[in-house]
Amino acid sequence: MIKTADVVIIGGGISGCSIAYNLAKKGVKNIVVLEKNYLASGATGRCGAGVRQQWGTEMNCRLAMESIKFFERANEELEYDGDIEFKQGGYLIVASTEKEDVQFRKNVELQKSLGIQVEYLTPKEAKEIVPYLNTDIIRSATYCPKDGHLNPFLTTDAYAKAAKRLGVKIYTFTEVTGIRVENGKVKGVITNKGEISTNIVVNAAGGYSQLICDMVGIDIPVYSERHQILVTEPVEPMQGPMVMSFSLNIYCQQTPHGSFIMGRGDDNEPRDLRITSSWQFLDEMAKTVTKLLPPIGELRVIRQWAGLYNITPDKQPIYGPTKNLEGFYLAVGFSGHGFMLAPMTGLLIAEQILGEKNTIDISKLTLERFEKGELVLEPSVV
Ligand code: FAD
Repeated sequence: MIKTADVVIIGGGISGCSIAYNLAKKGVKNIVVLEKNYLASGATGRCGAGVRQQWGTEMNCRLAMESIKFFERANEELEYDGDIEFKQGGYLIVASTEKEDVQFRKNVELQKSLGIQVEYLTPKEAKEIVPYLNTDIIRSATYCPKDGHLNPFLTTDAYAKAAKRLGVKIYTFTEVTGIRVENGKVKGVITNKGEISTNIVVNAAGGYSQLICDMVGIDIPVYSERHQILVTEPVEPMQGPMVMSFSLNIYCQQTPHGSFIMGRGDDNEPRDLRITSSWQFLDEMAKTVTKLLPPIGELRVIRQWAGLYNITPDKQPIYGPTKNLEGFYLAVGFSGHGFMLAPMTGLLIAEQILGEKNTIDISKLTLERFEKGELVLEPSVV
């Protein structure tokens, strides 16, 4: 392992790999990514990998729009020898309550004003897109045909390979156990395989972000929580878009090879680092999805698994440097939507490290917002 680096990134998920690639693309040499397991072993490899532009705040819409533009050209830009499997089958987001319906009308107005191709639909119109949708329980829906999903392993692999070609060193099965700090500045990273001197460390450790912050005595207002997901047997193509409901707390999509992937949130999940699976999830998931999409009940479940959401009080990420520790950057707290933000996470953090003006204004997403009570209120999160 090398002894000195210009930047050390902790975490080999989609965020860490994107940050490494973007820094290297901007000409930074001597970048190291440290991953305690294999690449994408954290939330990245466990996620639904859905990407949507249908957000309720301008900042999130803009972040997602730019990320989608990147995913559309990613195979070429990253010179990938495979395919990240970006399928733009759209997102159909259904409203079941009056409150949701009112919010969705506002969202669509905002999204259209920003140039997002989105439509507000009646239940009948929604049924034309997903014919077996149970419209008895929905009031309206919104639909953006350019939203979609990817293969999270292949997307991470594409970033990692592109970063390596640009000289980034990626050490897997290498756990960070400590961070050396002197006079309020980062000086190095200690791992189970040796120490690397560096003045810049990026915490991109996903569900383990607070554990990394503990190493430097910084408290961030995040908690980690298990989110579960399952996959069915593959069947003939029958559902174009991802179907999502905030009030039912579910999402369900058919992947290019025919399997359905679906997940749901549960406010009763314990706040810790467990990623075990439960039968209660299977039971609740089946009940909820068949309420909204009845024929899905005919499919057999192949496998279920879980991953960690790293959640902030406003369910928005924390980006950027920390006030009291020079050289320590955060790209954490993605609250269940960090995969789709990854292209912008990489670019924005690289810009911050290099002292460049951010392409999109993310000054609202600093750690300090919590101290100041300036939370970013995004109405459209699962
Ligand atoms: P991670 O992928 O968690 O990577 C962090 C890495 O840091 C891990 O690999 C971990 O092993 C490593 N690490 C931790 N501690 C150390 C250490 N001490 N030393 C070295 N390495 C360390 N997002 C979307 O945008 N769309 C979705 O549809 C979506 N669906 C989801 C469904 C589920 C069930 C889950 C769990 C998440 C979902 N997400 C989704 C959220 C998304 O998965 C995450 O926000 C995103 O993957 C975060 O990526 P990351 O690289 O920041 O973190």
